[in-house]
Amino acid sequence: MPEMKTLAVSVALAALMFSASAQAAGLPALKKQAVAGVQARAKLAQQMNDKIFSFGELAFQEVETSNYITGVLEKNGFTVTRGVAGLPTGWVATWTNKTGGPVIAMGSDIDGIPKASQTPGIPWKQPMVEGAPGHGEGHNSGNAVNVVAALAVKEIMEKEGIAGTLMLWPGVAEELVAGKAFMVREGVFKNVDAVLFTHVGDNLAVTWGKPSGTGSVSVEYTFRGASAHAAGKPWMGRSALDAVSLMNIGWEFRREHIRPEQRSHYVITDGGDQPNVVPQVAKVWYYFREQDFKRISDLYAMGNKVADGAAMMTDTTVEHRILGTAAPRHFNKPIAEAAYANIQAVGLPKWTADQQAFAKAVQKEVRAEKQDGLATELKKLEPPAEKPESGGSDDIGDISWTVPTITLNYPSNIPGLPGHAWPNAIAMATPIAHDGVVAGAKVMAMTTLDLLTRPELRTAAKDYFTKVQNKDEHYLPMITAADKPAIEINADVMAQFRPAMRAQYYDEAKYPTYLDQLGVKWPTLERPK
Ligand SMILES: [Zn+2]
Repeated sequence: MPEMKTLAVSVALAALMFSASAQAAGLPALKKQAVAGVQARAKLAQQMNDKIFSFGELAFQEVETSNYITGVLEKNGFTVTRGVAGLPTGWVATWTNKTGGPVIAMGSDIDGIPKASQTPGIPWKQPMVEGAPGHGEGHNSGNAVNVVAALAVKEIMEKEGIAGTLMLWPGVAEELVAGKAFMVREGVFKNVDAVLFTHVGDNLAVTWGKPSGTGSVSVEYTFRGASAHAAGKPWMGRSALDAVSLMNIGWEFRREHIRPEQRSHYVITDGGDQPNVVPQVAKVWYYFREQDFKRISDLYAMGNKVADGAAMMTDTTVEHRILGTAAPRHFNKPIAEAAYANIQAVGLPKWTADQQAFAKAVQKEVRAEKQDGLATELKKLEPPAEKPESGGSDDIGDISWTVPTITLNYPSNIPGLPGHAWPNAIAMATPIAHDGVVAGAKVMAMTTLDLLTRPELRTAAKDYFTKVQNKDEHYLPMITAADKPAIEINADVMAQFRPAMRAQYYDEAKYPTYLDQLGVKWPTLERPK
């Protein structure tokens, strides 16, 4: 029966072609489903964004935030491991379809900024709780991006039979660059094929190579002297505070003779108890930032020398403790190119006149250099600058030297703000943040599909990581096996403010948005007369 044989062959052939097309020609259709899947979850994105905003938790104390996000993930079929890498608020959530697929990890930070409490939607300083922390960077939004993207992709993987593992994880204590190096040391990323990190920004953007910014060492110096009656027997005392003061003066003089690309700053965390007691203990906390591993180590060594000099001058002793580290970042070119194609397909949100008017009111309030509202044009994907500018650090750097990694920025905040302060919290639970999160989640979901279904992209990403990124420079972890996360930091501050903050947590069952719960009219543009 030759006809039957032909039929069987052609059916088999058709099946083969179908499975091949699901991986290649079918990708645009899968991405369309992903965009629709994210859009269908815009409500969840808004709820998660607003809920985490209302928690406003500081580094290492992201207890409510982590409970909430892992709860949403568990309800949606993810398996959660808590307390990873010695971080009580650290977790890893995974969901696997079939066997043998790649592992794609989505991450974003979760911690807030001290004294950044701010009523969202109010374009002037109006703390929700005076002196309390708040999301003065916008870390409340990143896990809304990732969870919504992951749920949209999971649905497609189940429907289309795509093999792979989705892994979500939080950037704990990013504001202290104090979580991710510990996660790397613990091996959290050892089976991961690619990391898609996402961070709030004011455009929909991605970069590859070395971005502007720095890596850093965060270290606290503890000086110990001898106490004595400060008026009765001062000659019997040795002031640890004198040592701190001299270290700071020494560093200010030394600063003139270091590359201008360095960034260093300090706060005195313990200056003694009361003036009539010679301080027996005093502490100062430094950040040393530079642009490559060697220069960061050199700067840190310079700081240690100045500290030793101050101890010698005051006849005190000094010890130091690393509180955090961030490797300088390097992002993956092939993954960034794939993400950028998706950015172009999604485009910036079509901002409304209200959103633009509100953004301009905030820019006016903070006297921003440009007061032209929200971004309306995408940035180009350009090769990295030959001499990148200096600036802040992010401990995603440590992960970027462990696994092919990109950072996707999404437009949930307003351009031209100071950063790390209350003005950066204003937009973060408003329609600006909500629309930015949805745009970011679409790109995130599409890029995850790229990585799941295009083995050649994963190979190219690994090749870039091995042959280009690691050609002349290699990861130099700046924590040792003995260093432990400084999980006690901020516990006292949160204990002080949490009761007042808890009274204002967002109740998504009762109010459509957090602005509704707070009775903030949208858009509020001017102070009441
Ligand atoms: Zn950040």
